[in-house]
Amino acid sequence: MPHTPPPPLDLAGARLTIDLAALVDNWRTLAAITPAAETAAVVKADAYGIGIEPAVAALRDAGCETFFVALPQEGIRARAVAPKARIFVLNGLFDEAGATLAAHNLVPVLGSGEEIDQWSEIARARGRKLACALHVDTGMNRLGLGLDEARARAGEWLERPQLDIALVMSHLACADQPDRRENADQVDGFDAATLLFPDAPASLLNSAGIRAGRLPAYDLTRPGIALYGGEAVDGQAPLKPVARLDARVIQVRRVAKGDAIGYGGAETAKRDSRVAILSIGYADGVHRLSGSSDAAPGAHARFDGRLYPLIGRISMDLTAVDITDAPEGSISRGSWLSLLDDTLTVDTLARHAGTIGYEVLTGLGRRYGRRYVG
Ligand SMILES: *Cc1c(COP(=O)(O)O)cnc(C)c1O
Repeated sequence: MPHTPPPPLDLAGARLTIDLAALVDNWRTLAAITPAAETAAVVKADAYGIGIEPAVAALRDAGCETFFVALPQEGIRARAVAPKARIFVLNGLFDEAGATLAAHNLVPVLGSGEEIDQWSEIARARGRKLACALHVDTGMNRLGLGLDEARARAGEWLERPQLDIALVMSHLACADQPDRRENADQVDGFDAATLLFPDAPASLLNSAGIRAGRLPAYDLTRPGIALYGGEAVDGQAPLKPVARLDARVIQVRRVAKGDAIGYGGAETAKRDSRVAILSIGYADGVHRLSGSSDAAPGAHARFDGRLYPLIGRISMDLTAVDITDAPEGSISRGSWLSLLDDTLTVDTLARHAGTIGYEVLTGLGRRYGRRYVG
């Protein structure tokens, strides 16, 4: 797989610091909410952007035994780090991927009769029993078997000697809003699904389902975003932040009142200003919409405890910050400003761009100098 290696710290325009101790703490916090269930970890999309290998290794050492990825290739990467773990592949059985999944002992999450038949055939051809999970759709209308189809065919699937139904699962559409009645409806549907496969462990809850604290945990939970310090339930404070992002100041300039800053002259200086130019931009995953214009303010960067507003449009590789209120000389070429820290969370940055913390995390670029701590 083509994979651009991150630059060394001293050559990078911006540095991403990943706190693996915080990741592990968050996993333990989530596990303690549902003590009777096993707590897995969802590490799809390069562990939500923080790096799948270090994330899986840290969680494995903390005692996590089950991981969920989206794609076969992610499963192979997780497998290299966690040889004994159970690894489920959420996007299921791609036509051509069966042999690869079997070879790496990856367990596909199957969501149609066609996939189940194909996986059964792969197992039969190998003369061994192969594990799978079954995804039953309970109202999200995204992936999974319909309940009617599951009812009609469960008996037949259970009789297949080559098929080991190791998990039955479903996914909540509205768990970030615990008061939505869809949550209870989905639990009812899932209860019906679990009755069809009485011997299979069951899994329903994502981060929000766990943190809302109202829904049954079943046998296995599947947290993702909460592990990485993102907000799971609307309005509920996230767990510990995991990603910290600092960008290098490469120039400080004076801008006269009325002068425009950046592409399109979208923002004009409202006073004589000092502006710091950071070596980071939307190519690094700082969303272009988190910049500012005369019509709307943007996100902030922090230096020495204090927040300074981003000013003007964000460029591909550069971002301007209004540092007029900083003590003269305190911020200079070579200073570092934070875009993510303990209180500038992925969700605060996301809100300025009209998106969610998930997208900020998974959009973190490949050009950062990366440092893993904890
Ligand atoms: C991504 C995903 C999760 C994790 O969801 P979070 O909201 O990040 O906790 C769990 N289950 C499925 C099926 C998923 O696709």
